Amino acid sequence: MKLKNTLIILGAVVLIVSCATNPFTGKKTMALVPNSQLFPTSFAQYDQFLSENKVIKGTSDAAMVTRVGQKIAVAAERWLSANGYVGYLNDYKWEYNLVDDKAVNAWAMPGGKIVVYSGILPIANGETGLAAILGHEVAHALANHGQQRMSAAYVQQGVAIAGNIAIKDEQSRNAFNQYYGVGSQVGVMLPFSRAHETEADKIGLYLMAVAGYNPAEAAELWKRMSAQSNGQAPPELLSTHPSNASRIANLTALAPEAKKEAAKFGVTSFK
Ligand SMILES: [Zn+2]
Repeated sequence: MKLKNTLIILGAVVLIVSCATNPFTGKKTMALVPNSQLFPTSFAQYDQFLSENKVIKGTSDAAMVTRVGQKIAVAAERWLSANGYVGYLNDYKWEYNLVDDKAVNAWAMPGGKIVVYSGILPIANGETGLAAILGHEVAHALANHGQQRMSAAYVQQGVAIAGNIAIKDEQSRNAFNQYYGVGSQVGVMLPFSRAHETEADKIGLYLMAVAGYNPAEAAELWKRMSAQSNGQAPPELLSTHPSNASRIANLTALAPEAKKEAAKFGVTSFK
């Protein structure tokens, strides 16, 4: 009993010291796995994923993925710099790849590593829809949502009391994959909480608007995504991103706010 109490107190201490304010959300978030540990693992897993999958190069779709990804990245940098977080993305190594796969999916791993599956392009229905998808996925990465889920799991398992976690052993790498949904484990990734989804929706809208894309398209994109789920094979993205009427209503309501945010950066026309 005494030991258990001690562990709980130690855990609480670690939680306090490991919390950092996230610039996008203004919230204290738990980050037991520091970026210095997370990013190298992320980069290695990303490279491995690319080596095991067919990356599409030299097509207009591949060029679109790079173009939209770069614009979202620049928007994130501008937003962070304007809000006093200069250098927040210094350790980011942005990369954007289109992968030949019929899965309706896309993701962003820590440190700015993005994959778009060719299967999502018909639902994206052009550059603005793709910007809505990437804005949202990049938002999860910037807000450290995956990291928070990993940290919470470590705390639950009682392994967090020693402080920062090193991702060295296979078990930890498996946990990483589970929380970031990499590799062959598409669809196995645990869904984000509703709170994280709402947060990523809002940040994603800001990013796409600052990048010059009409944020009103985000609601249309999720409508198309939901319509697709009535078919025999629901989109993979929906398994981790349940979409419903309240999400679409929320996105519609926030779009004008995102345009106002973009205006602060001199962006007043949208495509
Ligand atoms: Zn999401």
